[in-house]
Amino acid sequence: MTIVFDSRPVNEGMARIAAASFCTQLNPTLEEVADLKTAVSEAVTNCIIHGYEGEIHKIRMDLKLKGREIFVDITDQGVGISDVKKAMEPLYTTKPEKERSGMGFTFMEAFMDEVTVDSEVGVGTSVHMKKTIRR
Ligand code: ATP
Ligand code: MG
Repeated sequence: MTIVFDSRPVNEGMARIAAASFCTQLNPTLEEVADLKTAVSEAVTNCIIHGYEGEIHKIRMDLKLKGREIFVDITDQGVGISDVKKAMEPLYTTKPEKERSGMGFTFMEAFMDEVTVDSEVGVGTSVHMKKTIRR
């Protein structure tokens, strides 16, 4: 499934619910659904705040199933990240003045089994996440 939506904060809730609905076909536990929703929220919020810096452009979410694995890719065509390794460190943020805590990627990694990031400055960012639904 692919959905494309405007980078408006109100759409973050819709993206979370779409991912949660998509994964119900695997009979996940409530905790697994909550983990997926949190990871989607963090990735979408990053597109809105960092990728597009508050401007309204498109965010794309691709959801795929393979056996009991769910794959989620969240992509923006925003400013990009110059040092992905550094950006993924706990507590690293480029927007401390906006009261960001630099924990988004850390939460994504904690709640999903795998998180990888492709990014190019001036081109955009794609976050790829995978989670096995165990039940
Ligand atoms: P928090 O998520 O705790 O509110 P944060 O968003 O700064 O704070 P992370 O989500 O871990 O923390 O992201 C770390 C940094 O990576 C961000 O400060 C930003 O510089 C960069 N970043 C993350 N996602 C994107 C994106 N989609 N486009 C451009 N830069 C990004
Ligand atoms: Mg963040």
